Amino acid sequence: MAGNKTFTMIKPDATGAGHTGKIIDKIIEAGFSFKAMKWTQLTTADAQQFYLVHKDRPFYGELVEYMTSGPIVAAILEKDNAVASFRELIGATNPAEAAEGTIRKMFATSIAANAVHGSDSDENAAIEGSFFFSQRERTL
Ligand code: ADP
Ligand code: MG
Repeated sequence: MAGNKTFTMIKPDATGAGHTGKIIDKIIEAGFSFKAMKWTQLTTADAQQFYLVHKDRPFYGELVEYMTSGPIVAAILEKDNAVASFRELIGATNPAEAAEGTIRKMFATSIAANAVHGSDSDENAAIEGSFFFSQRERTL
């Protein structure tokens, strides 16, 4: 059975453009509840670790540089079938391919600066949530 938690970040392009509030509204309107939320900024070591699965991809260096370029909002979200439901809400990685009405279609500026992160599995949602939040924060 699919889990009911996912993890997201509002990325530096979106926080810098003043889109944080509008994106949070879209997430709530789509039926998610925020279980934990934090405004912070990634160090290079944080971003390298968070995106370690992509270390051999050609865009890894660019991704780390971009993700450390400004503040982010990290959050744990709850809804039935959370991972798939949230991926649907954010749309395709490349905003040029994202469906109308999705967060990336509305707010992303490029395939790299694509406004939001969404976990790709229940397992990664748990790992990514642990990266930012203590056990106490995750279980409140
Ligand atoms: P998603 O975030 O949709 O799960 P991936 O896990 O494949 O996408 O990639 C992680 C992040 O790396 C993307 O959200 C985007 O910021 C960046 N990225 C992906 N593909 C590219 C690319 N071809 N060029 C630059 N950045 C990319
Ligand atoms: Mg991914």
